[in-house]
Amino acid sequence: MRLCRFNDGRLGVADPEASSVADVTEALDVLPGLAWPVPPGDQLIRHLPEVLEAAAGLLPDAPRLPLAEVTLLSPVANPSKIVAAPLNYVEHTREVGEDVQIHANTHTTGFEGFRSPVDKLGLFLKATTSLVGAGEGLRLIDPERRTDHEVELAVVIGREARDVSVEHALDVVAGYCIALDMTVRGTEDRSMRKSADTYTVLGPWLVSAEDVPAPGELDLSIKVGDAVRQESNTRLLTVGVAELIALASRWYTLHPGDLLLTGTPDGVGPVSSGDVMTSSIDGIGEMRVHVH
Ligand code: MN
Repeated sequence: MRLCRFNDGRLGVADPEASSVADVTEALDVLPGLAWPVPPGDQLIRHLPEVLEAAAGLLPDAPRLPLAEVTLLSPVANPSKIVAAPLNYVEHTREVGEDVQIHANTHTTGFEGFRSPVDKLGLFLKATTSLVGAGEGLRLIDPERRTDHEVELAVVIGREARDVSVEHALDVVAGYCIALDMTVRGTEDRSMRKSADTYTVLGPWLVSAEDVPAPGELDLSIKVGDAVRQESNTRLLTVGVAELIALASRWYTLHPGDLLLTGTPDGVGPVSSGDVMTSSIDGIGEMRVHVH
């Protein structure tokens, strides 16, 4: 099921083939009321199986809206953290090493003695306030500086996980989305350059994990206007999806709704105000994002 959030926080089931969204907002009634202190993480994702069941029940009679006329929000409203992998495709690591404009930070080059760049650099965190949906668009923080697109497969964690093994890592996944890990190039720390408001775009909807049986075999791409910029497959991830979840859960307790951005392939490049970015991932769909 393709679960989306739209307009003023409504819940929908997207049908991209029919270019429509069914409004199943009533399914949110299954969520329990909250008392302080509220449990960490996203409460919709924590109760996703019940929400999906209620949505399926509402679907036959749900009102349909044209997909093109709704404003898509982030499918996850309240992640407790956004974890991301740096330099996790070989060809992207190569282009970064060859272009000082992409990474002025010298600590990103030279990986002798390490199994992977992730092994040397670890994972990093993005501010949760950077998160928006496809319909909200990207707002450049400084048009004078270079902001690059990075298309990535995003994992949405479904339940609390700590020290999960690689073998069981995919069991804690609620679903998958497309993510844009938008990045200002420069000397500041990643946690600042990638955390400006709107610099994590998630969408266009959440596809349940059961509908993505092989997350390590997905074509992914992004166009800016009509020009294809990045085109690859998740089988080329240096550290795979299950290994990334296991690594993240060894350092941080993962909560329902936490996001894991798995890294970007080669072809990163700048965007300007007025551009439209169209990204797609096999089995998830296509996401159009305007640059403001
Ligand atoms: Mn990235």
